[in-house]
Amino acid sequence: MSTVIPVPDNWQPLFSSWDALRHGYGGDQDETVSDCARRLDTAVAGAEDDPLLFWTLGLLMLAPYVAFGKPGPGVEEKVVAVLRRVARGDDGMACAHGWHPYEVDVDDVLETLPADLEVLGSPVNQVLDDLLPEDLLPEHYLDALEDEEAEPGNLSGPEILARWQCPRTAPGFARAALDYLGATVR
Ligand SMILES: [Zn+2]
Repeated sequence: MSTVIPVPDNWQPLFSSWDALRHGYGGDQDETVSDCARRLDTAVAGAEDDPLLFWTLGLLMLAPYVAFGKPGPGVEEKVVAVLRRVARGDDGMACAHGWHPYEVDVDDVLETLPADLEVLGSPVNQVLDDLLPEDLLPEHYLDALEDEEAEPGNLSGPEILARWQCPRTAPGFARAALDYLGATVR
């Protein structure tokens, strides 16, 4: 299995536009949101190497605008519908992990996400033997962990990478985005 989390080519400008929108700037906000929802819709029905997690994180970034801005008619419904499809991907799924990255506070995750994605999305940046937990998670989140015996306090960089790659991670972030929107999974 590839160790790389799929990201679209040239994702950085896209990410910057989401970040601007998150902070209240940006051009056609509804078009940006709808485009992300459309691409997530394609990825959720698509192949394993489609950037499902990437577009899910996009809608997570855009969720505050959808929740508290003034999106046009139908935008919120579209976003909620596709997030529910992703969240339901967790149905009946089990894994051996006690913890996943979606359990980190959303704002903390998003703050370090561009740097984390550089590592997650690039085989060149993943020199696995040297991969450190702080390459993949906010450092102050790791510092604040009280129980270092429990996940993720006791995990190595490659083990945290495995949790990013877990098929339950995108559904978890989709649930976090639905929470933002005051919507349930069903
Ligand atoms: Zn897992």
